Amino acid sequence: MDNTGSYGDKPRVMSQESQVTSQGSSTIYRNIKTIDGARLGQIHTQRGIINTPAFIPVGTNATVKAMNQDELRELGAEIILANTYHLYLRPGHEVIKKVGGLHRFMNWQGPILTDSGGFQVFSLSPLRKITNEGVEFRSHLDGSTHFLTPEFVMEIQAVLGSDIVMAFDECTPYPATKEYALNSLKLTTDWAKRCKEWIHDARYKMQDKEIFIMNPASCVLHQSLFGIVQGGVYKDLRKQSVEELIEMDFDGYAIGGLSVGEPKELMYEIINYTTPLLPPDKPRYLMGIGDLVDVLTAVSVGIDMFDCVMPTRNARNGTLFTSEGRISIKREEFKADPEPLDPDCECYTCKNYSKAYLRHLFMNKEILSMRLNTLHNLHFYLSFFKKMREAIRDETFDNFKKEQTLILQNNFV
Ligand SMILES: [Zn+2]
Repeated sequence: MDNTGSYGDKPRVMSQESQVTSQGSSTIYRNIKTIDGARLGQIHTQRGIINTPAFIPVGTNATVKAMNQDELRELGAEIILANTYHLYLRPGHEVIKKVGGLHRFMNWQGPILTDSGGFQVFSLSPLRKITNEGVEFRSHLDGSTHFLTPEFVMEIQAVLGSDIVMAFDECTPYPATKEYALNSLKLTTDWAKRCKEWIHDARYKMQDKEIFIMNPASCVLHQSLFGIVQGGVYKDLRKQSVEELIEMDFDGYAIGGLSVGEPKELMYEIINYTTPLLPPDKPRYLMGIGDLVDVLTAVSVGIDMFDCVMPTRNARNGTLFTSEGRISIKREEFKADPEPLDPDCECYTCKNYSKAYLRHLFMNKEILSMRLNTLHNLHFYLSFFKKMREAIRDETFDNFKKEQTLILQNNFV
């Protein structure tokens, strides 16, 4: 394979020299300030700095739906998420390898986080069989049979070349008996260990200069591996999971298996209990949760990273976030409303278009409706996170949380 990088994009991130001398992950968490549990920080990666608390827009199929990558950059996205499960099934990681890795494939030079595919296997696949070895499942696209193991999932993510990779886990469902949750946790711990061993072996082989460079733009040497805490709604199991993962020393820690149908109070209880158990010098990522009231609660106990389809999916459904609460653009009252969606918003949509026009586009299912709505909602989310970081910096986070929680509860949908 040609490793010289002749696509006319940014220079390759790492030199051959750094490949053979690096000892492992290059992701470093720097804590700038912690006020009443809320952390202001930065995650330094090979491809850029992520200011935390950070929102990660979801680009399931290597695209944040309706946005191009320049728009994402202009909106201030510092990292995006792509789904291993979806990219493995279509177009296939071998295809992405041939075109030079995920960053080149989608022309995004910033950090990319890929999930392990575990959640999608458990939520999307019509048929699956879990063994200690891995998971056999049927594709939700064409019914074809596949077998994912922790090692294979690591290999796919290495080929994609993402900057932050997630260990393969079983997302414990809700409700689950304690016995089920415990067995599920044992599997997740065992798989996390195998992921860790795989990346360790891969780095070792590379340092031995064996032919192990799977991707011209990135490789396992610079990938950060995050472990995922499971344990369902059982605090002792969550604690056990945290302890077992810390023992293995991951580059970051995620809390998984929440927002899977449990009552909100129970979800908060588990977040409040689990987060402070995580190492203070590593990034903490709450997977799949992006309701901003939940975000404020989680940030107040020290979560750093969030991903969620909420701003983008809602945008396509016509639900828009404003500085006064959520609205549905299809409402009759906006039919001849010449005002912008949110006069306090500085996004392209609000600066250029009226509610009447946005409603008209939505009612006619115009492509531009999805684009303008997504631009606005992503701008709202990324600005909200920026304001939240400023509030932590200025030591006004408590007030910010109280004020915003009241506003966010306004639903005019
Ligand atoms: Zn706007």
